[in-house]
Amino acid sequence: MKRKLVVVGAGMASGRVLEHLLKAASDAYEVTLFGAEPRGNYNRIMLSPVLAGQAKYEEIIIHTAAWYGEHNIHCRLGEAVTKIDRAAKKVRTRNGETPYDKLVIATGSAPFIIPVAGKELQGVLSFRDLDDVNAMLSAAGNPDTHAVVLGGGLLGIEAAAGLKTRGMNVTVLHLMGHLMERQLDPSAGRLLQKELEGRGIEVHCHAQTKAILGHKRAEAVLLESGTIYPADLVVMATGIRPETRIATDAGLHVERGIVVDDQMRTSDSDILAIGECAEHQGICYGLVDPIYAMAAVAAQTLMGEEVAFRPVELGTHLKVSGVGVFSAGDFLGAPGTELVTLNDSGIGIYKKLVIANGRLVGAVLFGDTDDGLWYLDLIRSGASIEAIRDDLMFGRALAERRAA
Ligand SMILES: Cc1cc2nc3c(=O)[nH]c(=O)nc-3n(C[C@H](O)[C@H](O)[C@H](O)COP(=O)(O)OP(=O)(O)OC[C@H]3O[C@@H](n4cnc5c(N)ncnc54)[C@H](O)[C@@H]3O)c2cc1C
Repeated sequence: MKRKLVVVGAGMASGRVLEHLLKAASDAYEVTLFGAEPRGNYNRIMLSPVLAGQAKYEEIIIHTAAWYGEHNIHCRLGEAVTKIDRAAKKVRTRNGETPYDKLVIATGSAPFIIPVAGKELQGVLSFRDLDDVNAMLSAAGNPDTHAVVLGGGLLGIEAAAGLKTRGMNVTVLHLMGHLMERQLDPSAGRLLQKELEGRGIEVHCHAQTKAILGHKRAEAVLLESGTIYPADLVVMATGIRPETRIATDAGLHVERGIVVDDQMRTSDSDILAIGECAEHQGICYGLVDPIYAMAAVAAQTLMGEEVAFRPVELGTHLKVSGVGVFSAGDFLGAPGTELVTLNDSGIGIYKKLVIANGRLVGAVLFGDTDDGLWYLDLIRSGASIEAIRDDLMFGRALAERRAA
């Protein structure tokens, strides 16, 4: 009899595990997939282009109903797992219990909702799944509508740009001193702000939200400073928290995320965790590259093989059409590093490379991001850049031509 694999969460991480597993041994397990969303695996990253009208949901589906059918995956979509009974090796949903031999938890993250008065009003949304995008789109369309985006990180800016494209009046309120402070230095953050303002998006930094005002629906956002911004729609893009509830309730080791070893096993060796809900060596990831690497390792573990997940340096791209922003590694430059910068405000190009011991350790690019992946490769490989140092700033083509 086939062993039973239960997968909790039909998102990007679990989708990748299933692909690897099916490729390695399509009949190793009888698979049941539970998903809280009423749909299967789609490219969540592409929700920003969907919001901006540059892609349709149908184009971002990764696994169709036909794909699940073809691979004999029992899909229980729209059915959240509410409990894991580790002693009986069963998961529970509102429809009953399902036994497992191996369990994969891939529940992703939940948006962090800042605990301010008015957060439960109609028109206050997060930006995590297709339902959020559809709710934002149904509020758009009327040019008099005001949207306030709380949070000027990657998601907040992509939401703001999308809503602006849809014709709304958009304001971004950001707590910190410059936009995307987790990926950009102040110079690049300010350039980004200027670019967004040039598109008609209002941006205010050092803005601390005190309350969302309104009766049934959101009507305005009140800052601690007393300033009020009209808001028919409030999008909270104020961070994410790993979705760990079922793991905590089941007594698994959970810190910020569900703690996993190098093979993606939790504190119960029959239960694996991957994706944004997992924590490896103290880190919870929020980008797909490492999450896909986790998925490959988890599939091997399920096949009884022992490979280890090894974190790599991450790069971030902003997906706002016409705005090139890239960042990787130590983008601020720790003490002792050397900074090489190019700043041409006339054409809106800013580049900063951070070098330590003859190696590239960080990069921020604004305006021209063509060489972002090359810089990321150099950072990841730790290769010496001494031979190309003079040309490094001017990109791969020139540096490699001169070095040849
Ligand atoms: C708008 C947007 C833009 C992004 N852009 C980028 C980008 O440019 N680059 C990048 O690398 N990353 C980006 N990300 C992040 C990327 O999408 C995530 O890192 C990735 O989707 C995480 O995969 P996951 O499987 O861990 O979680 P998810 O894809 O979120 O999947 C988790 C699934 O589990 C379900 N679930 C939760 N609890 C339960 C339960 N109890 N029972 C059943 N199902 C449950 C959830 O409903 C969800 O469907 C973006 C994210 C968003 C929202």
